[in-house]
Amino acid sequence: MNNKINIANLPTKIEKLEKISAELGVNIFFKRDDQTGSEVSGNKVRKLEYSIKEAIDQGCDTLITCGGIQSNHARSTAAAAIKAGLSSVLVLRTNEEPEVDGNYFVDRLLGADIRFITSDEYSNSRQEIMESIVKELEKDGRKGYIIPEGASNGVGSLGYINFVKEVLEFEEKSDTKFDTVVVAVGSGGTYAGIHMGNDIYLDGKRRVVGFNVCDTAEFFKEKVKEIIEESKEYLNKKDLEKVNSENMDIIDGYVGDGYALSTQEELNFIWDLAKKEGVILDPVYTGKAMFGLHKEIKKGSFKNSKNILFVHTGGLFGLFPKKNQFEFKS
Ligand SMILES: *Cc1c(COP(=O)(O)O)cnc(C)c1O
Repeated sequence: MNNKINIANLPTKIEKLEKISAELGVNIFFKRDDQTGSEVSGNKVRKLEYSIKEAIDQGCDTLITCGGIQSNHARSTAAAAIKAGLSSVLVLRTNEEPEVDGNYFVDRLLGADIRFITSDEYSNSRQEIMESIVKELEKDGRKGYIIPEGASNGVGSLGYINFVKEVLEFEEKSDTKFDTVVVAVGSGGTYAGIHMGNDIYLDGKRRVVGFNVCDTAEFFKEKVKEIIEESKEYLNKKDLEKVNSENMDIIDGYVGDGYALSTQEELNFIWDLAKKEGVILDPVYTGKAMFGLHKEIKKGSFKNSKNILFVHTGGLFGLFPKKNQFEFKS
């Protein structure tokens, strides 16, 4: 599992959220994958370490990827490309001229080649559009490498198998064992990687819970299965025998108003947690997933858990464009 380049700051820190833990009567820890770096920050960099290695091995010089206008993944790709000595083309979804803010602002700072497409084009033909960019580059003697949305494919998800190993190394040095890992699900690669890591290193014994932030749990159970099937091509025989694509534990019901849209309740939750714990969640992924976890703990869905490890997957830049939606009372 070492066929990667090294860009992320690893291992990431694990810290306990004391006040929330006391309030809910269960220990909640955060794995600070938001601190994998500053420009590359977040979960995508663990995946990109593998995708970029594959790109370099194939002799490619330009990374091509896609996402929403505030995509954390696109921004991470633009930053990681520079660090790896490559160029990047970002195909971003927007129906209007966007404000230069948040991740898109960082994309511009990083000098990425940015192409806008509409949400219809994004749903129906983003792959064809990225392939046409490969052809366009070929005319200039360049070689493009396409990374799908979120780097959630077989190779990218390998990054979260290693994440599980990192958690076990932490456990060996402390007296805490995490019985449950919780993560936001946006394109499925992070969940797929942790699920595989749990099978490979722990015989599937820990509970791995996802909260989907778009689509449905059913959609992601299928998508994660496909990603795991793709990842199998990269695994050695011993690991391959251990990995399964069953027992997906994805909790639906916290998409709220829709992908990247925030309810006032979600924003207030982010605000409360910031004041209480000094930790800032993002509005698109971790804000919704942690909001969901909080509710589900109260409902009793985690009554068998003692130590829950929530993966803080990053996304801070995505909060800035939402600043005017917070109802701060003076
Ligand atoms: C992309 C992203 C996720 C979701 O990860 P997937 O692997 O796409 O499911 C979670 N949190 C943040 C901050 C992200 O940018």
